[in-house]
Amino acid sequence: MGCSSPCASCKLLRRRCTKDCIFAPYFPSDDPYKFAIVHKVFGASNVSKMLQELPVHQRADAVSSLAYEANARVRDPVYGCVGAISFLQNQVSQLQMQLAVAQNEILCIQMQQESAWPTLIDHQQDDKSFLLATNNLDNISQYLNFASSSNVIQDAALKRESFWT
Ligand SMILES: [Zn+2]
Repeated sequence: MGCSSPCASCKLLRRRCTKDCIFAPYFPSDDPYKFAIVHKVFGASNVSKMLQELPVHQRADAVSSLAYEANARVRDPVYGCVGAISFLQNQVSQLQMQLAVAQNEILCIQMQQESAWPTLIDHQQDDKSFLLATNNLDNISQYLNFASSSNVIQDAALKRESFWT
């Protein structure tokens, strides 16, 4: 960068672009809009101070962040970057809800298929598993009633005997 081609900042501020111009590496003359918008939102002297306080290797990232934030602030003067962030957060939570609904549907379909499976394959097997299932239900009701009443257990045991004889 010589005196012949000032950087975008010096061109806009109408000053001489020196060899140690702090803006020159980040605001090239072929992109005047970048500095114009950063200057409009943050002010050239503030940007200069910010860059001076940063180590050189972090300045390029800082400038691209400032340019992004300035663009967002011009597009959305009230919320700026926060508008974009909350829009994307909303999108994420909507997609998470859609995903949960889809996973639920998959689960329902899988359960329907599993419950329809035995009757489709083998009726004899199904009868056996029905007996086993009622037996298990009887056992479960015994355990459930154990604490409340001992008579129920006896009744259940009698019913079970008559069922098998
Ligand atoms: Zn300059």
